[in-house]
Amino acid sequence: MPQEYSPAEEVAEVARDLIDGDHTHLSTVRVEYVFASEPLKEKGKIVWGRAKKVGGLNAWLAAGTRKHDASQPEEFFVIEICKRTWDQLDDKSRKALVDHELTHCEVDLDTSKLSIRPHDLEEFNSIVRKYGLWRADVKLFVDSVKQKQLFDDGERGDEIIMKVDGKEVDITSQMNKARRRREASA
Ligand SMILES: [Zn+2]
Repeated sequence: MPQEYSPAEEVAEVARDLIDGDHTHLSTVRVEYVFASEPLKEKGKIVWGRAKKVGGLNAWLAAGTRKHDASQPEEFFVIEICKRTWDQLDDKSRKALVDHELTHCEVDLDTSKLSIRPHDLEEFNSIVRKYGLWRADVKLFVDSVKQKQLFDDGERGDEIIMKVDGKEVDITSQMNKARRRREASA
């Protein structure tokens, strides 16, 4: 089936809250939200959403025929979300997806130039399985996961179990230590 696009008001609504929170630099930037009827691909991989910058000739054309006199086009972002995926996600995952796409949208505060920010981490599972946290960005990524788990589990004071190579490892004391360090520095 050919790709069909439709306005994504539900996505825009989620995005508005997120922009008011962690993405205030986007509050004065034009961002369009679009549902795509067919799966989206990025670098050959199926993705749930995509963020793009529209600039140059495309931005000029997108301004509409009224403005098709000689003018400098206004750059803007487009966030595409696969509608089928969106319909299957719960609220938390929808929020995470929109937050992810908004994080790609970067604004240079000096020049107001828009750009697409790459992911913090690009790595193969097989390499991490073989070599572990061999690079700083891989380690940072795993640290973020641990911090989030700590935050989620911290309230309950339960044991924190991590699965390593299929074996369950009790990391409660390490995590509590990290939490105390975090609290001390907060
Ligand atoms: Zn992404």
